[in-house]
Amino acid sequence: MRTEKAACILCSRNCGLTMDIEGDRIVRIKGDEDHPLTKGYICQKAARLGHYQNHPDRLQQPLRREPDGRFVEVSWDEALDDIAQRLLAIRNRHGGEAFATAGGGGQGNHLGGAYLAQIRAAMKSRYNYNSLAQEKTGDFWLNGRLFGSQTCHTTEDVEHADFVIFLGCNPYQSHGIPNARDTLKEIKKDPARTMVVIDPRRTETARQADIHLQLKPGTDAFLLSAILSIIVREGLHDRAFLAAHCTGFDAIENILLNVPVADYVARADVPLADVERVARGFATARAACLRVDLGIQHTLNSTLNSYLEKLLFLITGHFGKKGGNNLHTSLVPIFSHTDERKQNIKRTVYHNMFPVSGIMPPNILPDEILLAGERRIRAMIVDSCNPLLTWPDTAAFEKAFSSLELLVVVDVALTETARLAHYVLPAASQFEKWEFTGFNLEFPVNGFHLRHPLFAPLGNSLPEPEIYTRLLEKMGVIPASFPWLEKIARHEPDAAAHLGFLAALTATLMRNKKLAPYGASILYRTLGKALPDNAAAAALLLPLAVDYANQHPAAVRRAGHRGNRLTLGTALFRAILRARSGLIFSVHEFNDTWSLVKHEDRRVHLEVPEMLESWRALEQQPSLPAGFPFILVAGDRRAYNANQIYRDPAWRKIDPHGALRIHPQDAATIGATNGSKVICESERGRIEVVAEIDDSVRPGMVVLPHGYGVRYQDSAPIGPQINRLTASTHCDPLVRTPFHKYVPVRLTA
Ligand code: SF4
Repeated sequence: MRTEKAACILCSRNCGLTMDIEGDRIVRIKGDEDHPLTKGYICQKAARLGHYQNHPDRLQQPLRREPDGRFVEVSWDEALDDIAQRLLAIRNRHGGEAFATAGGGGQGNHLGGAYLAQIRAAMKSRYNYNSLAQEKTGDFWLNGRLFGSQTCHTTEDVEHADFVIFLGCNPYQSHGIPNARDTLKEIKKDPARTMVVIDPRRTETARQADIHLQLKPGTDAFLLSAILSIIVREGLHDRAFLAAHCTGFDAIENILLNVPVADYVARADVPLADVERVARGFATARAACLRVDLGIQHTLNSTLNSYLEKLLFLITGHFGKKGGNNLHTSLVPIFSHTDERKQNIKRTVYHNMFPVSGIMPPNILPDEILLAGERRIRAMIVDSCNPLLTWPDTAAFEKAFSSLELLVVVDVALTETARLAHYVLPAASQFEKWEFTGFNLEFPVNGFHLRHPLFAPLGNSLPEPEIYTRLLEKMGVIPASFPWLEKIARHEPDAAAHLGFLAALTATLMRNKKLAPYGASILYRTLGKALPDNAAAAALLLPLAVDYANQHPAAVRRAGHRGNRLTLGTALFRAILRARSGLIFSVHEFNDTWSLVKHEDRRVHLEVPEMLESWRALEQQPSLPAGFPFILVAGDRRAYNANQIYRDPAWRKIDPHGALRIHPQDAATIGATNGSKVICESERGRIEVVAEIDDSVRPGMVVLPHGYGVRYQDSAPIGPQINRLTASTHCDPLVRTPFHKYVPVRLTA
């Protein structure tokens, strides 16, 4: 028996864990008291991670699909030689736009994504399709307009707020805030603090709230407009803050003074008196913040909703202060800035779509494969991602992926997407390799957790850094060795001496600029070999730590790291390598928020013309299509659903079918009872589901969870494949994030 430190990989909180391990089995999981952010906290989902690590569907050997559809085992050399040659042939014949990647870095599985990006560079492709672009790119796009860069990202200081609004999220189940259940309990038991939940379902969080606005699905923009209008009409906005830190308020004020408040509140179908209480309470609180999530980002007016929620904390001055919303910094940049107004932004062939934060929306991908003619996408690598089930319109993805000339899937199991692949490459699990947790988006105190492997890779599986580095070598874009760099790395394995290695690396890349995009693999093959405990994959953190320390030296020093102007970053890197439970890498001051705003005038630019246009057009919201009287809210977070890395259904203690929650009145109308089967049908498709009568949902809406529908040991799909109901065209017109929380359906018992 041994006890090891690890982290949960099921949601963005990445709680620290301790695992008791016997042989190759995890026998007990607890929260890690030493983790600097989560301090021992976990929820019930983490305790079941043994079902992810050990199950009979784990892949152990590369697979090649034969013409008759069977998979046969092949060696790594056979697989990678053929993939390399086929990729090069496609690139040489059709150019870089014939290639795209999907996925690359799920929850806590981020290192692989950095190495995969190099394959795009080798293919001269800029098409990076990622699940973040079916969730958050409206938010990112707005950050670019409001704060000057899509790398700016807001966070919320829920723990120190007196007045908190949870908008379109259910932290009790979806987490997303520090130690969610404890934090909610703290707010609830303090009579001086107020919790508001805005959600069409009476969620577990809503049950703890002081005020629950149970609005109609799809009416968030109306309700937010009304709240903002009440604040401005009553003069509760923070004029001093707006004058000091913002531009463009006049344009906003003009619209807000003309919002028909009573009409908009009636559309949302919530009590006006409660809306007024929320508006006044938020505006006048000493410290207030909003926490938002997919509930507003996956529904009608998605990007506009993000704009309005940001206006709420901006016009009331609850920004850049303790207990408010803030910007944060990141050790590993997961967001980039791609402004679609610039000429050099690569757009897609069929939809002329631009990337946001460097990533493309999944909604358009089937069309870019099927309808873009000679310039279509012909080859893809899908990494740690199962688009067939998790991206909109399963039938469209089945057709599109089946037509590719080359589909390579890198994953730990034979996913539904992998079943269509020409090659399936077995990846080591997240507990069999070095990895880090990249969604630590905290402010002012931020942490980072580099995780060490607990087991050897299963069978012949390999970590992604090794897979992609070998593939680059087979493609001939990097040499098999860098003797000079390897020699320097070997002789200089400590913090001060890493500077010498970085200087040598920079000189190498300056001499041979073609190698510059492959820095991750070069670090992996050189410095990586000299790092302790075979932490080769973590070598790419060295330049990132140095860069971060150069940009934020005071914050790094406040976190307790020591070094001079040159060695602070290398010392931080060595500390990251040592810290098995993770570490704090920066402690900011709230005033730093203003140095993180990227507009040259360091002000927030409130006037966003595209949003003002959408706002004015809000009245013309289309009504439900005839024959589909219910709104399906697809993708509910529950006690026993998670991302699709859990394939073994035995991990669930309850809700084995992923039931359709339906209001008693509606169940009576269609003749459904608890546990009865119901056909749920949208304009795009139909699935059979199991009914669960539940008065927490509004009449007229039904709810299905995400994370179901996988096959296990060649079974039929287990639970609902919700993306058989979603359509790729039902999405935000600007950034193409899907309206999963507003799918018109009809139900037949
Ligand atoms: S699911 Fe999220 S909140 Fe629960 S233990 Fe895992 S990381 Fe923590």
